[in-house]
Formats: sequence, structure tokens, C-alpha cells
Amino acid sequence: MSQFFTQRLSALKPYTPGEQPKDQQYVKLNTNESPFPPAPGVLRAVTEEVGKLQLYSDPESTVLRKALAECYGVSPRQVIVSNGSDEVLNFAFQAFGDEAHPLVFPDITYGFYPVFAQLNRIPYTTIPLKEDFSVGMEDYIGIGKTIVIANPNAPTGLCLSLEEIEKIVSSNPDNVVIIDEAYVDFGAESAVSLVDKYENLLVTMTFSKSRSMAGARLGFAIGSEALIADLNTIRYSTNPYNVNRMTEMAGAAAIAENDYYMANCRTIMENREWTTGALENLGFRVISSKANFVFAAHPRMDGGELYQKLKYRGILVRHFTSERIRDFNRITIGTRQQMELLVEAIAKIQQEGTL
Ligand SMILES: *Cc1c(COP(=O)(O)O)cnc(C)c1O
Repeated sequence: MSQFFTQRLSALKPYTPGEQPKDQQYVKLNTNESPFPPAPGVLRAVTEEVGKLQLYSDPESTVLRKALAECYGVSPRQVIVSNGSDEVLNFAFQAFGDEAHPLVFPDITYGFYPVFAQLNRIPYTTIPLKEDFSVGMEDYIGIGKTIVIANPNAPTGLCLSLEEIEKIVSSNPDNVVIIDEAYVDFGAESAVSLVDKYENLLVTMTFSKSRSMAGARLGFAIGSEALIADLNTIRYSTNPYNVNRMTEMAGAAAIAENDYYMANCRTIMENREWTTGALENLGFRVISSKANFVFAAHPRMDGGELYQKLKYRGILVRHFTSERIRDFNRITIGTRQQMELLVEAIAKIQQEGTL
């Protein structure tokens, strides 16, 4: 830290992204990217846009918001797009969190929530997940705070039902409830169907996971027009050109070929069920996932050691060191071939008797 870094943020602990190694080719199952390339229309759209880079992007992202609005059955005024959904989450924390509306989220969830809260100096508390790692819906009923829930949750993959989400939203009419649906396309129910009924519901989504565009940085949020207007106040006070030309058109092209992505999601779900069964056969406890990853622990294997041994064999998974989950590894679901390589590697590690 330099002598100039503001005292105000001296205790800030930044988010640690998953490894993006450059030293060798790994079977990369650590950051929940899609193993499938973008649809062909995306490449064409990006190529066409490159020739117009001397011009600023459309600060309203009109084309993309219209495509998203049609896809999700809402009005374009209910949609905001962002530089990854991380950005719109940060905007939402800034817009809807303060001393009078402190944030609350589960103790085990997306690691960016406490970082954004600290960065913006918004008070927050966490609520422990239940013993089985599920989010306790009852814990959030009428809590009177700005609620943030990833549904499905990360890194567990467990989700709440739409009925449970609705109970949380309807019992907290004076606070915004942010539902982070980064993984919703892999088998959970979206709360977008509730945004016309509840002024206080904001749903965030991303193109990074189900739509094979992590590198383009594109996210969005859907909510009431009033909430979206508030988020635009923050956006225009931060960076009105937050989504670049190429990314906007890539997103619109992706939505035009949505069937391709939804078919890929079905493949991932099949591979997830196969992987869950194979890991259970090897003695793992696998949390029942509705996301593009599984969260798995072995009663006789140290989580950190398994992570290291897989890395040595060229397979990257994600290990978290926090107390409650350090026996686990979060394993992204890739192609069937990638998952077979993972399962073979774990079987070999077991046979060597080193674990
Ligand atoms: C990946 C992820 C995001 C956002 O990722 P972006 O690439 O910024 O869109 C948000 N929430 C959760 C829970 C995630 O796992």
C-alpha cells in the first residue's frame, strides 16, 4: 500500500478471481465458464462493429435492451445492461444500501458481496446457511434490510423455489430484494415473472455462464421501471458507456440465437447429473446442484490437497479456504470428455492411496 492510499479504504480486501493460468493448458473447471463457443452470429456481429470503434457506444444500449426485453417479456425500461453483472450488482448496492437499509446475505455466497459492501461503506450482516447448506427462507421474512440472494447460490448450487423467493420479497416491501440469477439457466426458476407484481424486486443476470460470453463482460438487471431508473442514475454518474459497441451487438446476436445456448445448458445439466453420479460412486458427498458446477467433498480427502493433486494432473477446480467449506471443491461442469478426465484423475489419485 502506498502512503497515498486513502485511509477510508485501507482495510478493503479485494475479491480474488479464480486462476486464469497462462503457463500450461489445463482442463479448466475453476471459474464456471462455458465449455462451448459463442454462436456464429456473435462473431459476425462483433466483426461488423470493429469498424465503428471511433464512435462511442450507445449509452442506452437500445438494441440490446430491446432484445432482452422481448426475450424476458418485459418493457425495455425495465432493463439495464452492464459491464458484467458484477457492475450492476455494485450499482444496486450503491443505490439501495445505506445505514437505514443495511445489506444482508448468506455467510456462504458470492465473494463479491462483502467486497462491494466494504467498497461503498455500506453496513452488512450475514446469515448462516442451514446445516445442509441451503438458504433458510424463514431467516429473511420481514427482516427489513436490503437482501441479496444468489439463486442458485454459489458455491453450493442449491436454490430456493419461486414461492420461497416471493415470500421473502412480499414480506419486505420497504426494502429492495436483489436476486442474483447468474446460474438460473441451469435448472432453477427465475424470479423475473414477479417483477411486475413487486416494485422492490431486482433480478440480475449475466451472459458469462449460460451464454458463453465471460470475456465480453456483459450483465443485466430486470426490475420495476423505478428501480431501473435509480440504477441508471448511478450508471450515468459512473460510466454512461459501460457496455462497449462490440459487446452490445454480441449480446443482441446471442439473444437472437438463444435456442443454441439453451440447448448447451441442457447438455451441461446432463453432464452435471453424470458427474454427480460418478463422484458419488467414488465416495464423495455432492450437494444437489442447479448450477453449472457441483460442490463436492470426500470424507477421507482433504479439500485443499485434492485441489493441489488435480492441478498437478492438469485439472483446475476451485477450492475455498473459509472454515465451513474447506473440505469442498467447486467443480465447473464442462463437456462430457472433460468430466471423464476429471473422474479418471480422481480415481487415480485414490488408487495411489495418497489420499
Ligand atoms: C459469475 C457470477 C456473477 C457475475 O459475473 P459477471 O461475469 O460479472 O457477469 C455474479 N454472481 C454470481 C453468483 C456469479 O457466480
